[in-house]
Amino acid sequence: MIKPDAVENGHIGAILEKITAAGFKIVAMKYTQLSVRDAQEFYAIHKERPFFGELVEFMTRGPIVSAILEKENAVEDFRALIGATNPAEAAEGTVRKMFAKDIAENAIHGSDSDENAAIESAFHFSGREIF
Ligand code: GDP
Repeated sequence: MIKPDAVENGHIGAILEKITAAGFKIVAMKYTQLSVRDAQEFYAIHKERPFFGELVEFMTRGPIVSAILEKENAVEDFRALIGATNPAEAAEGTVRKMFAKDIAENAIHGSDSDENAAIESAFHFSGREIF
């Protein structure tokens, strides 16, 4: 997901350019907005965290771009491309270093395992939307 902060700041094109230049193939993509319920479900793993309310508010405040990306070693390579959760700790040239403000508004989401990638793909897309 390209998160609401990055969309608000006009970074969709630049982020997609970095993603495709890094060799990822886009097999599904949509411009959409999460409802509160969607965000609570997507981030259910964090529901006991003190920042959960803030996270849901942030992720629902405007549109996002969601996509399914394909590549060898995609999870690891995408996490490397986006950088650390906290942009202050992200490596130079990563998406979060370039486009994120702080640990909360950090521009982009990437799945953290193949298993979660499959769950998150099914959360955002039906079979007919995946190419
Ligand atoms: P990720 O896998 O790198 O996205 O990191 P996590 O799974 O740990 O956290 C999920 C998302 O919750 C992050 O990408 C941030 O948007 C948000 N988040 C993480 N830590 C904090 C925090 O301390 N405060 C707030 N407000 N949001 C946070």
